[in-house]
Amino acid sequence: MNLIFQKKSYCFKLSAKLENSKNSHHTKSGWIIKLTSNEKIGFGEVSPLHKEDLKKCAKQLNMISSYEELFNLSEQINIFHPCIQSAINSALAEINGKIIFKENYYFDEIDKTAILLNHENVVSDLNQIKKRQSDIRKSLTIKWKVALKNNHEEEATLEEILSQIGNNIKLRIDANGSWGRETANRWADILKDNKNVDWLEQPLCVDDIEGLTELNKKIPIALDESLLKFPNLIDEWKGWQIRRPSQENNPVKLLRELENKKALISISTSFETGIGKRWLYHLSSLQLQGPTPKVPGLAMNRFPNSFLFLNEPKKIWDQL
Ligand SMILES: [Mg+2]
Repeated sequence: MNLIFQKKSYCFKLSAKLENSKNSHHTKSGWIIKLTSNEKIGFGEVSPLHKEDLKKCAKQLNMISSYEELFNLSEQINIFHPCIQSAINSALAEINGKIIFKENYYFDEIDKTAILLNHENVVSDLNQIKKRQSDIRKSLTIKWKVALKNNHEEEATLEEILSQIGNNIKLRIDANGSWGRETANRWADILKDNKNVDWLEQPLCVDDIEGLTELNKKIPIALDESLLKFPNLIDEWKGWQIRRPSQENNPVKLLRELENKKALISISTSFETGIGKRWLYHLSSLQLQGPTPKVPGLAMNRFPNSFLFLNEPKKIWDQL
């Protein structure tokens, strides 16, 4: 199959600064790619999570010719950054009909995705969210990024949060790999019998698989960064998995897992444009039909109002 390869770069400002214990972002950069074969078009997005990977991706994208043969392109990208592989494989899946997007997915309402708490004012933010909740019988999922302040302070905040949430509010706590075993065990002990907790996300550093496995016996542990560093864990980890289609070599693997009703998967944004968002929505809707439905983490309140987030990829491409 002969392919025409095109790329365009983008950069946008997030509507609020995004901070976790390891990184802080206010802008997001990446590329939209377009593959054309005969009359068929597939779009993909190169959306590295870490700014330091942008240079590497730029260099590798420049190595891809405008006219490529499928076999050569597939061989060439094998050693490229996973985000480039993801973009090309996504576009190819679209061309080959391996994924067929729907027109609408209905993730725009507040309760359809996990709501990220502002870590500066966690409790007042939680109260604002509760106030905005149009129907208090509906359940909400909130996500709190921890290990940004000292642990003593955060444990006090945890007590406050727990005293303020009823059964209809679920809680996800993400340490982004910054806790040691002692702190993680303290939190696991506090939360292990609490029905409000979905999971502790990446409580220990990416490499401490033994510690994570032990903790997972006490309380549900979701791996995030560990899965990106050790993709083999996708087939081995027995607990929850935070999955990011734009960061995996081939999101078709994730698509097939969800189609085959694999459990304990939660879909997460890497702050993609409308191009990558199509995968997030499609996979999230499959996840919700699976054996362990959970709202995805799509950070809907972080995106500016821009053509970049339209549902029509052609319009995004043409205007970029
Ligand atoms: Mg995470």
